[in-house]
Amino acid sequence: MNILVVEDERNLADAIVHIVSDASYGAEAVYDGRSGLRAALSGNYDAIVLDVMLPGMNGCEIVHEMRRQGVATPVLMLTARTSTAEKVEGLDAGADDYMTKPFEADELLARLRAFTRRRGDVMLDEVTFGDIRLDLATHDLSHDGDSVHLSGKEFEVMRILMSSSSKVVSKQDLLGRVWGDTDASENSVEAYVSFLRKKLAHIGSSVQITTLRMLGYRLEVLEA
Ligand code: CA
Repeated sequence: MNILVVEDERNLADAIVHIVSDASYGAEAVYDGRSGLRAALSGNYDAIVLDVMLPGMNGCEIVHEMRRQGVATPVLMLTARTSTAEKVEGLDAGADDYMTKPFEADELLARLRAFTRRRGDVMLDEVTFGDIRLDLATHDLSHDGDSVHLSGKEFEVMRILMSSSSKVVSKQDLLGRVWGDTDASENSVEAYVSFLRKKLAHIGSSVQITTLRMLGYRLEVLEA
């Protein structure tokens, strides 16, 4: 799943790219209306997050032009909180959904997932690695009929490890991405990795979380 982000506030555009990439989707940002239309018409994207107020050409004009040219890519419009007119205009122009700024990462991802469900693309609701599957909606980790529910932080840690495939993820990186600005320490990361190891063993998976001293963690598939 490849997402186009069209938003002229660079910080917000880059934050959205980050959120979407963290959820294992591909994402690219462009920062003005004309580049947005050009990218949207390329047909290279599965969904578009489109701001209304843009230099060059506004979001409503972009979606109107896309639809006129027969491009059916789902569009999620970003609108200012106060502007009902923007929402109506966006939907009238052919947007599929809208979201008011500011918004939470989870809300953005839920709306993008709803697009993929509408397309019947069930594979995109989960991340897989080796013999395990992590359901992004229910937070269930499963292997061959056995499944176990992951708590919020267990889920975040596991999702990051699984979407990094076999690349090493440092404790510091996990700490920043999962715990944010709290005063949690690397001990918390170690504790959660230990919970996850127990859960992986519990469902009988051959995937293990390997510790690389001084570097961090990575997922490996144990050979039988
Ligand atoms: Ca804007």
